[in-house]
Amino acid sequence: MIDYHEPVYRPPAEGNSFILQVAIGCSYNKCAFCSMYETKKFHVRSLHDIKEDIDIMAYHSETRRVFLADGDALACETDFLVEILDYLKMKFPKLQRVASYASPYNLLEKSDEQLALLREHGLSLVYYGIESGNHELLKYVNKPMHPDKMVEGLNKATKANMKISATVILGLGGKGMSKEHIEDTAKLVNKCEHINYLSTLQLGLTDTKEDAFFERFEKKGKPFEFASDLDMLEEQKQFIAQINPKKAIIFRSNHASNALPLKGTLPKDKENLLEVLDSALDDETLLRPKFLRGF
Ligand code: SF4
Repeated sequence: MIDYHEPVYRPPAEGNSFILQVAIGCSYNKCAFCSMYETKKFHVRSLHDIKEDIDIMAYHSETRRVFLADGDALACETDFLVEILDYLKMKFPKLQRVASYASPYNLLEKSDEQLALLREHGLSLVYYGIESGNHELLKYVNKPMHPDKMVEGLNKATKANMKISATVILGLGGKGMSKEHIEDTAKLVNKCEHINYLSTLQLGLTDTKEDAFFERFEKKGKPFEFASDLDMLEEQKQFIAQINPKKAIIFRSNHASNALPLKGTLPKDKENLLEVLDSALDDETLLRPKFLRGF
């Protein structure tokens, strides 16, 4: 049995994947809304231990998908990751997909050649938290990457022929910054060459994060007021309405935090999705009950 460093997180679409921890925690670990790795000190695991985990799973030769955890696998050196990718390919002959999270910093730090090399050796999908396309809001929540730099990083991944699955956090700016949050996030998405999958989460803060999160907004003179489910659905509606991508995007709001699960392809299904949202805005009984949600 693999001895995981708990807690372990993975995207919903990686539910059937072999989760391989190549690094523990997140090297940044300072986003004001994120508590996923707050109990972990970032470190890269030894190649020996990683290969040992792969060997333990190797009996399951049918493995087709692997997710490189934790939150910041791409912070590892490229050669180190290539060695892991090659070992995975050797041990799992039916391997079809290797994925990992990619932070805005990771994609900018890796050169085009390094990203192409990782793709060539099997890393074919990256999960990327856009969160917001509004620079002010990103500064408020302590993930202060400039939106243009995010577009640059995402386009680098596309150029390397990697698929991108990106997430946006509804309600991140509360009631006060909702408009600019949504408008600028749609603009960011529209500037990207190709986001393959796009999904939304609803903001949820753990007790360990709430006070510091609110303080950051107060210090800027913009006290944070939580958006309601209906506010977030309205954001969802405005967001979808403003997305005009260069290439088709598969859109999902299937994360457990969402009040309304949605799926479709943008722009093709835009009108349908907007109609579903209008119905839910008119009739709250269509929303997923709170006790069935999580973050
Ligand atoms: S949101 Fe991503 S980059 Fe920010 S602390 Fe969490 S894992 Fe790290």
